[in-house]
Amino acid sequence: MNDSARFIWLDGTLLNADEATVPVMNASLHYGLAIFEGIRCYESAGGPAVFRLREHMERLVASAHVIGFRSLPCDVDGLVVAARQVVRANELTSCYIRPVIYLGEGGWNMTIDAGVPHVAIGARPWTDFLPEDSVTRGIRANVSSFTRHHPNIAMTKAKVAGNYTNSVLARTESLRLGFDEAIMLDPQGYVAECTGENLFLVRHGGLLSPPTATTLEGITRDSLLSLASRLGLATHERQVTRDQLYLADEVFMCGTAAEVVPVREIDHRTIGKGVAGPVTRALQSEFRAVIDGHHPLSRAWLDPIDGGLPATVANDRHDHPAEIGYGHGV
Ligand code: PMP
Repeated sequence: MNDSARFIWLDGTLLNADEATVPVMNASLHYGLAIFEGIRCYESAGGPAVFRLREHMERLVASAHVIGFRSLPCDVDGLVVAARQVVRANELTSCYIRPVIYLGEGGWNMTIDAGVPHVAIGARPWTDFLPEDSVTRGIRANVSSFTRHHPNIAMTKAKVAGNYTNSVLARTESLRLGFDEAIMLDPQGYVAECTGENLFLVRHGGLLSPPTATTLEGITRDSLLSLASRLGLATHERQVTRDQLYLADEVFMCGTAAEVVPVREIDHRTIGKGVAGPVTRALQSEFRAVIDGHHPLSRAWLDPIDGGLPATVANDRHDHPAEIGYGHGV
């Protein structure tokens, strides 16, 4: 992922990054068959801690289930421990953790069952994904000319590599047009999500988010719904149209990479007052308190890096017995 990530966890063992390789002739690479997660570790008040690590690993395993993997060489408990090992071994604090499940061998007949799943976890130091001032100033978005997946064409609950061609098409178009991010409509024409973020809007005092039928069930979205109800804000999940976005008092997007980012303009229309509104700012500050370790929910949602078992580092995975979470192959 990055030169500074020295160690990658692969099937139960930490390897030097240059040894954790995949052959070019690999069915996951050719058919977009890699299940992945994006997870953040924060430098919180209590030391490095991963935001909702277990939920991310549960979603990773759920994605594999949706795609049809019948068994995996690891379970959620093992993945949680492994992620901590990767952060510790790489001596990272604020970082991005990327687990991936892929077919190491087989799968050329375009079935899951003919392949052998492998699990890897890499990490890299955190670098901002959106323009630096986007959190305070807000971003400019367009409604994409590309449609979000139909739920019976691509499995939108699965974070599977192939789904992201759609995101890459939309985001590349958006950036080439001079915007910062694309908003995607579902096949019926209702607002779905952004390329890698869920959406919220504030209208008539209520907080709305499109339902998750055609979107990924975002962990940040879920967190913000909890934080909003703790603040006493009325929250609703219901279909949203493009013009309702234009008429909103506030729009913001959320995700692991973006966190909570105001959208100040959509399709050249100013949203609300064209700055982060009060609800967006309140949720940004609640979310910040959580990840800094200063919120009542920090304890539940932050997984300290030092809470796991010590990492072992191997030079050759074949010489080392499987560690935690690595059970049977397929
Ligand atoms: N939608 C899509 C398509 C995504 O890739 C992401 C990022 N994982 C999200 C929404 C936001 O999800 P989360 O808050 O869990 O990062």
